[in-house]
Amino acid sequence: MIRAVLLWASRDPWLGRSLPRRRFVRRASRRFMPGEGKNDALRVAENLKRDGINAILTLLGENVASPEEVDAVVEEYEEVLARLEGSDLDVQISVKPTQLGLDFDARLALDRILHLASRAREAGSFVWIDMEDSSYREATLCLFEQAVERSGPEYVGLCLQAYLRSTEEDLERLLPLSPTLRFVKGAYAERAEVAFSSRKEVDEAFFHLTTRVFAADGAVAIATHDSRLVARLRRWIDDHPGTQFEYEIQMLYGIRPEEQVRLAQEGEPVRVLISYGPAWFPWYMRRLAERPANIWFVVKNLFRG
Ligand SMILES: Cc1cc2nc3c(=O)[nH]c(=O)nc-3n(C[C@H](O)[C@H](O)[C@H](O)COP(=O)(O)OP(=O)(O)OC[C@H]3O[C@@H](n4cnc5c(N)ncnc54)[C@H](O)[C@@H]3O)c2cc1C
Repeated sequence: MIRAVLLWASRDPWLGRSLPRRRFVRRASRRFMPGEGKNDALRVAENLKRDGINAILTLLGENVASPEEVDAVVEEYEEVLARLEGSDLDVQISVKPTQLGLDFDARLALDRILHLASRAREAGSFVWIDMEDSSYREATLCLFEQAVERSGPEYVGLCLQAYLRSTEEDLERLLPLSPTLRFVKGAYAERAEVAFSSRKEVDEAFFHLTTRVFAADGAVAIATHDSRLVARLRRWIDDHPGTQFEYEIQMLYGIRPEEQVRLAQEGEPVRVLISYGPAWFPWYMRRLAERPANIWFVVKNLFRG
């Protein structure tokens, strides 16, 4: 129930305009977002590096409505990539297709992905394509397929959601491209026809999808804070000695930071996704929806202020 309300709030335009102006909401959001500018995000990336953790930067925002807004997003990512050139940071970027114009011009979105992939290659970086709600699934798969066909699989990867019933089939469709994939459980409110609703089914799907990529010698990002799932996958890897699996564990900034450091200290490759930018409200509501206990954080900040 609380989850449904928070996901509804993430889409409500009035709340999206008024709540971010409240100081206590802004303060509470700092737990998951170091600030609104790329300097804030890059500063955190430098700190993480000291703990042996790499980073991904993502500019918050989705569903842009004009080519001018797409240009502004691309310019921001170009500036991030320019800052990485010659630096010793291992930082990638992650983009939402609707942030690059997928809602109104799929060719523009593809063109901008290819442009960012080419800039990422020059900067020694990499571009992840996020997966948004299931209404964008097919268009996003096509975008990724075309990007890989045109630029190769080395500089662009795709996020797939384990909660979607269709993901197993999508994975088989993509495997011939030797893709780099990120598996997540999935963050949107989806209908039971398209998505598994029980946690057990989602976790099983996550495990099977990941091991399927391992069996096909593919590269995979295990993007979850679920320690039991990570431990199960690590056991599966240990049960296959002599085989090198290409993977890393990805988590979000501010969620289980002690676990991120612990895994890195154990020698696991860990990468943390740092979100930043002024358009943080819908994204923040989705983080609260994942774990309604986080609302206490907002309430505590209300009383602190
Ligand atoms: C790098 C990365 C990229 C992502 N990209 C996408 C994407 O493109 N599309 C998409 O739909 N989703 C994306 N997600 C979000 C993902 O779908 C999940 O919603 C999110 O990761 C939470 O699920 P979980 O796998 O951690 O498992 P859960 O079972 O939800 O959580 C496991 C444990 O982690 C902790 N935890 C999880 N979430 C929170 C939280 N918000 N606050 C505090 N503790 C928490 C809790 O201890 C919980 O018990 C991404 C996640 C990551 C890490």
